[in-house]
Amino acid sequence: MWGAIVLAGGSGQRMGADCNKVLLPLAGEPVICRSVRAFLPFADVLVLVCRAIERDAIRKALESSGIDIASICFAEGGADRQASVWNGLQALPEVCDRVLVHDGARCLVDSATIRRVMTSVEQYGTGVAAIPATDTIKVVNTDAYVLSTPFRASLRAVQTPQGFLTSLLVEAHQRALQDDYRGTDDASLLEHMGHPVKLVDGSKRNIKLTTPEDMKMAASLLESSVPDFRVGHGFDVHRLTEGRDLILCGVNIPHTLGLLGHSDADVALHALMDAMLGALALGDIGQHFPDTDPKYKGISSMMLLEHVVQLLDSHGARVTNADITIAAQKPKLAPFIPAMRTNVAGALGLPEQRVSVKATTTEHLGFEGREEGISATAVCMVMVK
Ligand code: MG
Repeated sequence: MWGAIVLAGGSGQRMGADCNKVLLPLAGEPVICRSVRAFLPFADVLVLVCRAIERDAIRKALESSGIDIASICFAEGGADRQASVWNGLQALPEVCDRVLVHDGARCLVDSATIRRVMTSVEQYGTGVAAIPATDTIKVVNTDAYVLSTPFRASLRAVQTPQGFLTSLLVEAHQRALQDDYRGTDDASLLEHMGHPVKLVDGSKRNIKLTTPEDMKMAASLLESSVPDFRVGHGFDVHRLTEGRDLILCGVNIPHTLGLLGHSDADVALHALMDAMLGALALGDIGQHFPDTDPKYKGISSMMLLEHVVQLLDSHGARVTNADITIAAQKPKLAPFIPAMRTNVAGALGLPEQRVSVKATTTEHLGFEGREEGISATAVCMVMVK
């Protein structure tokens, strides 16, 4: 099992803030929430190391970010980084035989980096994220005179996460305590006891937020990052029958037959709503608006669409475009398509150029061709903030 120790015990003096830097907001969310969220999918147990006086503030920040704190243990911050990791290791349940250690201030860490570290631990027992040094590094004396210039190609800038077999990291910390050795990262403790440490590719974006300039850089990196786009697909069929209105995308279309259903049976909007729900894996309209519920009897599907738009909004998501195809042998739908697009675009809050409604016959084939029913498919793109 994997444990993750996220360090949030620093004072953040270089940040010049009056609170722990991990509580500073970055693009609307505290730094620590971003760091914790990055590790939750990978860790069976997450230990958050922070000072006792900041525990409540951190807990509150996590909760208001929608993070389930039930899966998080808290450990007391130590006098320095090494002591904090040691405290974190004490709080880690024994079943966690593998552990990732991460600086809470590196909140732009990506899943690919975490996976590379984990894979390396499985293969070699250790895995430490690092990037090649791009600057030439000088070793200097206290008077800023250069003593030497190490060969750049052999230099790496080390980041976190740093992953280890837990027993190995515990041994390294015990040895360092015994020898009164202080290292600036966990890998150096393994080096101190002569154990090989394997580096894996980190990421240039995985910066440690130390100064106010770092916060600005991180904010601009987040702004320029690719938004989270999801695609959704929906499909629906309704039977044609006498004595019912034919309503497609909220437009009442003159015809001798209409669609049968518990609601107004707007097959096109049903497909669209299923696509929107599907994009966020939120089930289907049958679950959200059960046909056993009398309050949905005869209801306009335009109203249901409004509910689905609000539901997406509550998940921080909105549709960026939609494409609906209606398969009907009769009647001719072309004259009604502009009104359908207007309706859908209005409900989604989109310009009409982002809403496509198409109609096709099925060349008299199948149930649509025999005019027994009408089917519709829809795809949409959903952007999550
Ligand atoms: Mg339906």
